[in-house]
Amino acid sequence: MHYPEWIWQNGSIKPWAEATTHVMSHALHYGSSVFEGIRCYDTPSGPAIFRLTEHNRRLYASARIHEIEIPYDLDTLNAASREVILRNGFRSAYLRPVAYRGLGGFGLSADTPVDVAVATWQMGAYLGDDVLENGIDACVSSWQRFAPNTIPAGAKAGGNYLSGQLVAREARRLGFGEGIALASTGLLSEGAGENLFLVFEGVLHTTPVSAALLNGITRHTIITLARANGIEVIERDLPREYLYLCDELFMCGTAAEITPIRSVDGRQVGTGRAGDVTRRLQDLFFGLFKGTTPDVHGWLEPLEP
Ligand code: PMP
Repeated sequence: MHYPEWIWQNGSIKPWAEATTHVMSHALHYGSSVFEGIRCYDTPSGPAIFRLTEHNRRLYASARIHEIEIPYDLDTLNAASREVILRNGFRSAYLRPVAYRGLGGFGLSADTPVDVAVATWQMGAYLGDDVLENGIDACVSSWQRFAPNTIPAGAKAGGNYLSGQLVAREARRLGFGEGIALASTGLLSEGAGENLFLVFEGVLHTTPVSAALLNGITRHTIITLARANGIEVIERDLPREYLYLCDELFMCGTAAEITPIRSVDGRQVGTGRAGDVTRRLQDLFFGLFKGTTPDVHGWLEPLEP
């Protein structure tokens, strides 16, 4: 594994190897961390971090849900996010802010200090090299998402990703590219680390936040781009069998971007290739970073403002 040179931790940039934490940090034992995943793209008008402020706002929202008090304000974290990418000399990168309960008590409800880091590294297509083009084979997981009022799915917290790991690892073990989880209701929820879109007769259908999912920023981006370009979007409860009936299916997330799904549970989706609506949305989405889709919402936040 090749690591980048610099990382931001608790207020300053330091060499990657120095960003350590104690083994008795609360988060390591109890999953008490919140984090974000953000991408910086090298656009024709210079490197830009995609929806940086919104991602960092979600970090504070996740922290608020779990009563984790982040000892830095939004401007500081936005600046740290820029600084760490610049110091590493990246023009495109994945960015990982994380805040966690550190060392300072062993009990579950201990009020420990909160440590904060912002890491960055270079990342290509998350689910494999050719997947944006050719799609992945997915399966419905034998693991369900957490039930309402158990672990809040709306927070992007470390502990939630025990569920994601069960889903993703089972899928890979069985030879699939990614797993799709059902909510405790039995209705469709989301992928291990991606939201889900189905296409029926040109109309986009996506699962609602009530289905124990993370309210993805890519999901919001796609809904916004689709509606602005005359593609109807419906947020609705969706039963599992709709996966086998839809014309097109894709997953989306910061890491996965827009990844077509060509089969589910060994059943071919549509033609088995990325469909017209998926391709159109990929063009619109990646167009933001190529300069062919106008950034009317100010989503591209320049690396060097
Ligand atoms: N669901 C889960 C469980 C995720 O981890 C992610 C990735 N952050 C997403 C959905 C997609 O969210 P976003 O588009 O904001 O990256």
